[in-house]
Amino acid sequence: MKKLALALLLAAAVVLTSCSSGKMLERDVFAMDTFMTLRVYGADEALLDAAENEIGRLESLFSATRESDISRLNTEGSAEVSPETAELVSGALEYCELTGGALDISVYPLVSFWGFTTGNYQIPDSGEISERLELVDYTKIRVDGSRITLGEGMNIDLGAVAKGYVGDRLCELLRQGGVTSAVLNLGGNVQTIGSKPDGSDWRVAIKDPFKPDENLLIVGVSDSTVITSGDYERYFVGDDGKRYCHIIDPSTGRPADSGIASITIIGKNGLMCDSLSTALFVSGAERAISLWRESEDFEMVIVTTNKKILITDGVDVLSDLSGLDAEVISRE
Ligand code: AMP
Ligand code: MG
Repeated sequence: MKKLALALLLAAAVVLTSCSSGKMLERDVFAMDTFMTLRVYGADEALLDAAENEIGRLESLFSATRESDISRLNTEGSAEVSPETAELVSGALEYCELTGGALDISVYPLVSFWGFTTGNYQIPDSGEISERLELVDYTKIRVDGSRITLGEGMNIDLGAVAKGYVGDRLCELLRQGGVTSAVLNLGGNVQTIGSKPDGSDWRVAIKDPFKPDENLLIVGVSDSTVITSGDYERYFVGDDGKRYCHIIDPSTGRPADSGIASITIIGKNGLMCDSLSTALFVSGAERAISLWRESEDFEMVIVTTNKKILITDGVDVLSDLSGLDAEVISRE
């Protein structure tokens, strides 16, 4: 009898611990040209399989280089697409508008002409740049239900926004599967569900753009997304000794040169964070701070090319800032 009581007690303890935190499962995935890690508490392998399949399914809709909704649209100029593609493109267009075209999903002809799609880098001359800039204008993109139509000769690429959106979809899938604690790292884009199983915030590292193998600072988040755009992520050094990065300023057709080395956006929505990280990298710190002051939706950490760190006052910095040239930006 005593043995039975003990066994029941043990079983209850196991149920209790698995309810409060659950076992941690980790899954590595290579997709969308990047390494991803899903660390999920309280899920089973089948739910992780579903998440992995969903990444593959969404990648096969959004890729600009493989057979996908987007490559079909780029070839045909107008195409019927899946609901997710229509949702992502129309969502991204709102951020193109909000940022005055600093984000422009039709800047692809320049991204590829500079060589960022193939690695065959070149510095185009100004005539070649102007010619391609004629094709860059997000206001000519139409989304009518499931049909997207581009302006004549235009091409789009969702590289600036797709990972944030995919992160949102994965969080939704995992939450529907009952997950209340998870951290997803999609190639440096970090998306979290709830907090750590012990109730404390997730600790997310922001890289030092000047030494990308080292962390600059650690922020605490729960149920949030932390997305960085940086000049160290993809760039080449020209014969002129200058560094050219993969984010193009749609107003010049040249790699952005706004004085930002990296910008991290923290918020609830992955698509928003991914869109703003790219757009505000182009706009520069001043415009980024004025947009932040007008909005309640996000916080940010900017590292300037002269190594100053600007941190908005809603960021929960968990690491020591002494020794860094850091300034906290307030709303006033
Ligand atoms: P991210 O790493 O999210 O900042 O996205 C950068 C990628 O977005 C680049 O590799 C390009 O494919 C694409 N891109 C570059 N400049 C822009 C821009 N101004 N607007 C939209 N997409 C861009
Ligand atoms: Mg982005």
